[in-house]
Amino acid sequence: MQINKSELEAVAVKSAQYPESGVPEIAFAGRSNVGKSSLLNLLTRRKNLARVSGSPGKTRTINFYRINDEFRIVDLPGYGYARVSKSESEKWGAMMESYLENREGLLKVIQLVDIRHKPSAQDVQMYDYLKYFNLDGIVVATKADKVSSNQRSKNILEIRKTLGMSNADKIIPVSALKKSGHEVLLDEIEKLLEN
Ligand code: GDP
Repeated sequence: MQINKSELEAVAVKSAQYPESGVPEIAFAGRSNVGKSSLLNLLTRRKNLARVSGSPGKTRTINFYRINDEFRIVDLPGYGYARVSKSESEKWGAMMESYLENREGLLKVIQLVDIRHKPSAQDVQMYDYLKYFNLDGIVVATKADKVSSNQRSKNILEIRKTLGMSNADKIIPVSALKKSGHEVLLDEIEKLLEN
């Protein structure tokens, strides 16, 4: 699959602001600075669809992108940014919960982790949460250019183990810098849409 058309359809902090359901949705989650905006730009072949920020933790909204007039990519707010207040992180939790628990048409949440690091406690918590809602199964390991191919395989195993991924679960290394891995991810998205 190739993405030829992408447009921001809605920016939401509460469910009343979500676009109409009934369109299949694939959401993306991960800690701030993991490379989510860069990946979304790569997937959509747009330079600036999602913002790439040098200062993480700014996006606290759920952004809905309409893709190829066929489905939506949903950019969930990043977590794990150290400098947010308790009330901010509670707001984040409530926002995630309201979207993940009830969203009609939500097919899968693709979780992003940095290929260089062992997943954090929050990454593990997020993946457990996705498992609970049957939304788990695809993990993207970002910034694959930052490690050697030898280290890459080792780290992928470590990520699998730490997140408690099953054998059927997929982990896809991508590099927004080298523009690699995104085709594999797009194929997986296509499969989800066909089912
Ligand atoms: P977000 O906060 O998850 O949306 O992350 P961003 O896309 O804004 O990226 C955070 C930082 O990581 C930026 O400085 C990006 O340039 C950098 N980055 C993102 N993807 C890659 C990648 O594939 N390789 C490298 N080397 N850096 C990346």
